[in-house]
Amino acid sequence: MAGCGEAADGRSGGGWPIGFIRLVQGDITTVEADAIVNAANSDLIGGGGVDGAIHRAAGPSVMAELDAIRPKIGCCETGKAVVTGAGRLNAKVIIHAVGPIYRGGANGEAELLASCYRESLRLAAERSLRSIAFPSISTGIYGYPMEEAAGVAIASVRGFLQQPSSIEDVRFVLFGSAAYVTFSRVLSS
Ligand code: ADP
Repeated sequence: MAGCGEAADGRSGGGWPIGFIRLVQGDITTVEADAIVNAANSDLIGGGGVDGAIHRAAGPSVMAELDAIRPKIGCCETGKAVVTGAGRLNAKVIIHAVGPIYRGGANGEAELLASCYRESLRLAAERSLRSIAFPSISTGIYGYPMEEAAGVAIASVRGFLQQPSSIEDVRFVLFGSAAYVTFSRVLSS
C-alpha cells in the first residue's frame, strides 16, 4: 500500500464505530482492490485530477470501453456510475461515478454525492466483489468542501454496509494529508 497513513473502523474494534471502512493517504492508481472508483464526468471522456491519473495508469483499453458505452447511454447522469475493466490497474474493474458540481450545497448535492457511493457499492456487490477503493469524489475540480463531502461519503458507505453484501473492505484513498486528516476526523466523530 502506497499510503503513508491508515485509520480503520473495522470489526476489530479499536474505538471506531461499526463498519469495514479504512482510510489511506495516497494515490488511488497504486492501490490493489477488486474495484477502483473513478471520479468521472458525465461525458465519460476523461479529464484532470483523479480521472486523468486513472486513465493514464490504466491505459487506453479503459477509454476504448467507455467509447463503446457512450453511444448506448448518451451520458452518465450525476449520481450514477458505469463499470469498465481496469486495464493496467491492480483491480478487476473501474467504476466511473459522476459526482455533483458543488453549487452552494442547496441544490441536491449531498443526495447526488451519496448516490455516487451507493451506486458504486451496488455495482461492485452485484459483481460479488469484496474490496473497493474510493477517491474523495467531487472535492477537486467540482469544488465540494472536503468536510461536508467526507460526512456524506462516510454516512453513505456506512448506510450501505448495514445490509449484507459481498463488500468487506471499503477504502477511501485520500490524496494529501489535509483530505486524510479531515476524513479521519469525520470517521471518528
Ligand atoms: P472531481 O471533479 O470529482 O472534483 P477531482 O479529480 O478533481 O474530481 O478530485 C477529486 C478528489 O480526488 C480530490 O480530493 C483530489 O485531490 C483527489 N485526487 C486527485 N488525484 C488523485 C489520485 N491520484 N488518487 C486519489 N485521489 C486523487
